[in-house]
Amino acid sequence: MSDKGKLALYWAASCGGCEIAVLAINEKILDVANAFDIVFWPCVMDGKVRDIEKMPDKGLDLCLFNGGIRNSEQEYMARLLRKKAKVLVAFGSCAHEGCIPGLANMNSRDEIFQFVYKDCPSADNPKGVLPEVETKVSEGTLHLPFFYDTLKTLGQTVDVDYYLPGCPPEPERIWDAITAILTGKLPPPGSVIGAETTVCDECPRKREEKKIKEFKRTWQVIPDTEKCLLEQGIVCCGIATRAGCGALCPQVGSPCIGCYGPNAGVEDFGARMMTAIASVIDSNDPEEIDRIIQEGIPDPVGTFYRFSLAHSSLRRSNRAGNGKPAAKEEAEVSGR
Ligand code: SF4
Repeated sequence: MSDKGKLALYWAASCGGCEIAVLAINEKILDVANAFDIVFWPCVMDGKVRDIEKMPDKGLDLCLFNGGIRNSEQEYMARLLRKKAKVLVAFGSCAHEGCIPGLANMNSRDEIFQFVYKDCPSADNPKGVLPEVETKVSEGTLHLPFFYDTLKTLGQTVDVDYYLPGCPPEPERIWDAITAILTGKLPPPGSVIGAETTVCDECPRKREEKKIKEFKRTWQVIPDTEKCLLEQGIVCCGIATRAGCGALCPQVGSPCIGCYGPNAGVEDFGARMMTAIASVIDSNDPEEIDRIIQEGIPDPVGTFYRFSLAHSSLRRSNRAGNGKPAAKEEAEVSGR
């Protein structure tokens, strides 16, 4: 019998980029294969949930879980893998903070279904059929997972041992995390694996005093190649974002959009960014400040909470019709 550790990888509500990022460690994947038997990786091989269910608790040495919790099946798998894994890592921005799927927390489940299955220009659904948890057919009853009103992060669902941020995590950081796990040189449980500094600290662009009279969208300007992008009026989130990516985006003239999540000690990424942006606007006139923000930042949620809405103090939109009825339904749904 193999004396290797047992590794599981799981994909919940996410785009799948994190699965590809695992392979971006290139030939080091062979070291992973030397250290672990990969016993469950639905994206790559035909593992069965029942095999995991039959494992003893803590029978998995490591589980890399990517994606947020959008439906009851993902919640079941999060709870199952938590029970079976000695070390559970929230792998990537979706598991860590909800990421892009979490932006749907601006809408209710009914609104999402209305658009996706009926109003979307590419939808071809003349009978207006919507997904049902149970559908009776002549052969029996078909089941689908229950789609939650509010996307949750992995850490809002189960206890998480470590967080590996990024959309997706950079290969070097993935390898750092695997090495830390293999050698036992891990930070305290609950930690984010990675740097304590910000993307600004990694960024080679020159910084002087920031005084902004006008914010510009990236398509409106060809930025100076050396000067800080924020000083050029381009909203760059490096100031609030945890380092670890090597400031790849600002180095090629594209602003940091915050995928590594908040820097150490920052609870709410969007609030931190809004504070930073407010402090660099060069005006004391409230009307002018309103104009600068409204003209230059037309999508504040997408700008400041692109990756972190589900993880934020706000968590979701509280508009009428959102939240309460489906939250009750969520409580009624158990298992898959
Ligand atoms: Fe920070 Fe962005 Fe300026 Fe670089 S360009 S120093 S990441 S704000």
